[in-house]
Amino acid sequence: MSSGKHVLVVGTGPAGIVSAYGLALKGARVTLIDRETQVIDSPRAMVYLPSTVKALDKLGLLDEARKLGPESYDYQCYFAQSGNVGRMDHRLVQDLTPYHFILHFGQDVLANMVLERLLALPGTEVKWGTTLEAIEQRDDQVLATVSDATGQHVIAADWLIGADGARSTVRKLIGATFDGFTWPDTFMATNIEFDFGKHGFADSNMVSDPVNWAVIARIDNSGLWRVAYGEDSELTEQERLDRVDQRLRHWLPEGAEYRLVRANSYRVHQRSASSYRAGRVLLAGDAAHATNPIGGMGFTSGIQDAVTLVDLLAKVLNGETSDDVLDWYAYERRRIFLEIANPTAIEFKRRTQEADPQKRLEDEQNFLHLVEDTDTMRVALMSIFGLESRPYQVGWRESVVPEDQQRSGSDKAKSLVGGTTSTLRHTEEIE
Ligand SMILES: Cc1cc2nc3c(=O)[nH]c(=O)nc-3n(C[C@H](O)[C@H](O)[C@H](O)COP(=O)(O)OP(=O)(O)OC[C@H]3O[C@@H](n4cnc5c(N)ncnc54)[C@H](O)[C@@H]3O)c2cc1C
Repeated sequence: MSSGKHVLVVGTGPAGIVSAYGLALKGARVTLIDRETQVIDSPRAMVYLPSTVKALDKLGLLDEARKLGPESYDYQCYFAQSGNVGRMDHRLVQDLTPYHFILHFGQDVLANMVLERLLALPGTEVKWGTTLEAIEQRDDQVLATVSDATGQHVIAADWLIGADGARSTVRKLIGATFDGFTWPDTFMATNIEFDFGKHGFADSNMVSDPVNWAVIARIDNSGLWRVAYGEDSELTEQERLDRVDQRLRHWLPEGAEYRLVRANSYRVHQRSASSYRAGRVLLAGDAAHATNPIGGMGFTSGIQDAVTLVDLLAKVLNGETSDDVLDWYAYERRRIFLEIANPTAIEFKRRTQEADPQKRLEDEQNFLHLVEDTDTMRVALMSIFGLESRPYQVGWRESVVPEDQQRSGSDKAKSLVGGTTSTLRHTEEIE
């Protein structure tokens, strides 16, 4: 059923494209804009954890996604201090969920696949080279001023989704702060042609070491792998690029031949917007929250934002419910980031880079015990679905919020409803 309502989505990253596609499927008119001239294809996320696999299935995208890259089951952790290795296998929960596997392909590949399907739906368009500049909210619509090669224009929409990444213009325009901090270290993302699978690596691996830590994962079926590692922020980008071969030698077998395909560096953050909704404007993906990528919490959370928004905003567009569901969206997604994604990603980063030998030993023992304890392992494997939103409940402010407050401690939960949290204080915005 077509509602005829118009949604403007800013950003063609995974959060924007998946939101746009889901809403168009449910009958909305959707315009996507991006200041770039095509989907960004630099090395970024390429591991689709089980909750993302489930989300793709919900949108009817899973069959196509399975053709785009390999499926895997294993996650392997190398403890450089002892040389021990622990392995988690998602097949251990195959009786609990059909989504007991991981997919591998670049997020740009997903974006392009979904974009093609989106543009085949009626009432959809994408405007490349179009930058959002300003927003004016009215009672019944939102007016977005955009600029392109021909000048400035105004696009009128019923709702606007800001999926414009960690430096979001939308977030700034609605006056939300981006509370938290930026890590001092710089991350390098390299794509290389080398088959780590033939050298004892699983398709997803973490190498735990204070200096030579790394995340090594298969990207696709073409023999491409990602090696991500830390670099000194004091170095210039050219110096970091000049060191790539020297750094990669830490994880490659001796004398291995490989081909470097892409490399770029980036800074990582732990931040959340102070609010994910202002009137007719909603934030999703990195525009709403940013995290370091170890453990894949950022991309994975952004996809969950998108599928939640598709469900709830479509109901509003189709006149099935009041816009209170969008306040719930803003509350629930922010809670999940602050309570689950953010601390999990910080802990993943700590364990990967831990310098204290005693703590490293404890981390290793904990992981190896987990691997041996089937019941605990099953709980750990299913915990990724904790990033999914709970269903909307009428009266959630009176029923759900107090329960959340009790669980999390009153100060922290109060801050989930709005304002600055105890874990993410307001600091300078991302430059
Ligand atoms: C180098 C790098 C490597 C990464 N590696 C990993 C990884 O290995 N694993 C992982 O889980 N995550 C990784 N991430 C994070 C992951 O890529 C992000 O979480 C994900 O891209 C967020 O998707 P998004 O749709 O919210 O925003 P983005 O993908 O950032 O997309 C935002 C879009 O908005 C557009 N835009 C911005 N401002 C405007 C404006 N004013 N007007 C119009 N358009 C605008 C941009 O051009 C862009 O296309 C990485 C990120 C980077 C930068």
